[in-house]
Amino acid sequence: MLTAVKGMNDLLPPESAKWAHVERRARDLFERHGYREIRTPMVERTALFVRSVGEVTDIVEKQMYTFDDRDETSITLRPEATASVVRAYLEHSVHKKEPVTRWYYMGPMFRRERMQRGRYRQFNQIGVEALGVAEPTIDAEQVAMLHGLFTDLGVERVDALVNNLGGPADRPAYRAALVAYFEPYRAELCEDCQRRLDKNPLRILDCKVPRDKEIAAGAPATIDYLGEASRMHFDGFQAALAAFGVPFRVEPRLVRGFDYYTGTLYELQSSAGDLGAQNTLCGGGRYDGLVEELGGPPTPAVGFAMGVERIILTLPGDADSFDPRTDVFLAALGDAARLHCLKLAQALRRAGWRADFDHRGGSMKAQLKRADRVRARAAVIVGDDELAARTVVLKDMSAGAQSVVPEAELAAALHKLLA
Ligand code: AMP
Repeated sequence: MLTAVKGMNDLLPPESAKWAHVERRARDLFERHGYREIRTPMVERTALFVRSVGEVTDIVEKQMYTFDDRDETSITLRPEATASVVRAYLEHSVHKKEPVTRWYYMGPMFRRERMQRGRYRQFNQIGVEALGVAEPTIDAEQVAMLHGLFTDLGVERVDALVNNLGGPADRPAYRAALVAYFEPYRAELCEDCQRRLDKNPLRILDCKVPRDKEIAAGAPATIDYLGEASRMHFDGFQAALAAFGVPFRVEPRLVRGFDYYTGTLYELQSSAGDLGAQNTLCGGGRYDGLVEELGGPPTPAVGFAMGVERIILTLPGDADSFDPRTDVFLAALGDAARLHCLKLAQALRRAGWRADFDHRGGSMKAQLKRADRVRARAAVIVGDDELAARTVVLKDMSAGAQSVVPEAELAAALHKLLA
């Protein structure tokens, strides 16, 4: 028996209905905020992620699915989508056509991580990116949008954590402070962090090794090293969050595992559902340097990505409650009635009903059993007598009551029954 690759999951009904619900609500909300959908390939040249996510990051060093294409180009299954979005933005010269671009995407990402609940190797993200706007109010609008989405979905106990990483002007001083702080602990740090200390000390702050985490807890905070411009941006962000009425907490040690982040950083966590340690639903922030890094003009940008699997784990209600029920099940006795029911089913579907028909036929008892199994709300029964009289038997599947209805009045009777 062949099974799926470890860490990559199938999604079956009725669980898939929960996903469709989340995706629909997100799409609808993002589009009301002026974001439009972009789809990019699942595979990119490896260099794209090395340059954007960063060479000395867990993702690039340990987690990417990288392989040589048949022409020996190194390609990688995307571990995240911001890099692809920016690549597409530049490749299609979108920056020359519009001053502000707002896009959203949804789809699978791939990281070869250590697996646990809420952490998989193929997982799905829904994200947005806003390019061309430097003002902190749009950062806050994204957090407010997320907050609205989680409220709408009924996800409870959501916390918004915010921070500012500082811009390129603030980095050298902060980096020096980090090195000075960690240097005396060098021997106690894990092997990876010893290397990070020389190459990319900021990444020590998101190390998961317990002793490293303990040491990092006392490290200098980015917000103590912000210059005037970053400080003002951070103040503006917080003022706008307050204006949106979004509760938030400043978390001075918040970092995220990509090198492209600058300035604003935010994260939405939830202690609801079965999340356990993997309680971050969503992470985002500014990446004002990335467009330029990938060969474009200086372009401010901000965005987030949320993990669909984790949102599903926090979503109240069992999967069945998201599964759209069959409105009406058609059951036929006899060949002529079967053909007639096929036509009736098509007419009902065209009128917008979810209509099911058991092509396998069988006894009326068997067909009605199937109607029960698909949780149909009503059944339409047609035999030779009904066919001759141009009537149907309409059965209310929950009450059990049934009545003979002229075919011409079926639509109205169904409306009344299912209203
Ligand atoms: P990131 O792209 O690392 O900033 O992550 C953004 C969000 O994607 C996280 O908050 C998670 O909800 C989700 N996520 C990231 N990595 C995984 C993973 N391996 N499995 C499931 N969800 C993930």
